Amino acid sequence: MRRTGLKHQRLSRKPQGVHKASVPRGHWPNRQNARDLTSVLDEVLCSEARYADRPIHWPGALSSKVAKARKIAVIKRLRRYGKKFKAAAELAEVLDGCRRGHRCRSASCPECFRAWQGWIVNQTIKVACQDTYPHLKVLAVSIAIAGCQRPSGQLDSLNVPKLSRRARRVLAASKAVEWAILGLDLSLNDERQLGRGRHWQPQLFGFVATSNPKALRSAMKSAFRPRPGVTKPSWMKEYDGSPLTASYAFKADAVLRISYFDSDRTHPCTNTRKVRLPAPAHVEYLLFQDQLKFFGRLVLFKIRKSWRADGLNLEVAKMRPLKARNGRK
Ligand SMILES: [Zn+2]
Repeated sequence: MRRTGLKHQRLSRKPQGVHKASVPRGHWPNRQNARDLTSVLDEVLCSEARYADRPIHWPGALSSKVAKARKIAVIKRLRRYGKKFKAAAELAEVLDGCRRGHRCRSASCPECFRAWQGWIVNQTIKVACQDTYPHLKVLAVSIAIAGCQRPSGQLDSLNVPKLSRRARRVLAASKAVEWAILGLDLSLNDERQLGRGRHWQPQLFGFVATSNPKALRSAMKSAFRPRPGVTKPSWMKEYDGSPLTASYAFKADAVLRISYFDSDRTHPCTNTRKVRLPAPAHVEYLLFQDQLKFFGRLVLFKIRKSWRADGLNLEVAKMRPLKARNGRK
């Protein structure tokens, strides 16, 4: 497992206490500015209420009790690998310091991730289900980007900002997207039985509002073409407004997808089954997720933040007036 750049980061991290967010109103933090990102995260995770059971509400959502138990299991696993990888031992200490009123805010912490997931799911539903522009269709969209696969053991070399920029360029070029909220989803694809290797496959899953689904579909098809291992690079269907679907875009875990040759059928073909990540890959994923941080996994298009009495909110940045968009009134 190759781990670069994590050592310094881990050494400078300590669990932090809850304090008031210091981001000035009307200012959207720069992705490169770690202090700003920390402050925005403070705003999301500053309330212990987000860690409670009440705000999380969809079938299969983790309870606070299960999240706590998972955190203990994650710490145990990280400590075991910490004997070999210092970064894992250091992350285990950060997670171990996470407790009520003194949260670690690591994206690898099941308790903190659960609190953040509850916030982002609620924000996404609020944006997607607003009825200000009823002519828009909100679609659930999935994009598997073929050129960005990373070999197992080299996940830390995945260039997420580059991947985000590419996705935003395609959305902008389609001229059919009013806003988009996408989350990065990773899976470890094992295609050794098909004569290929084992690699991490990044995928973007999320929600796009469009007045022209046909133009969007066509732009996606020409930008993301099928390649070996990615036979269906993009798909979309109408979003049903459910928190369960929204939660899928911002899930904490990755899976191992094993592709195999299915000879039971009349026409032999390849099939895939999903299983849990093996322990070394899970540790690699946890370290990467911690490094990427919560907002690093989001791709926002024409979405901005707004500060209100109830805290940080996501909202549509700007929308052309109906008359200008239709161009005929
Ligand atoms: Zn935590």
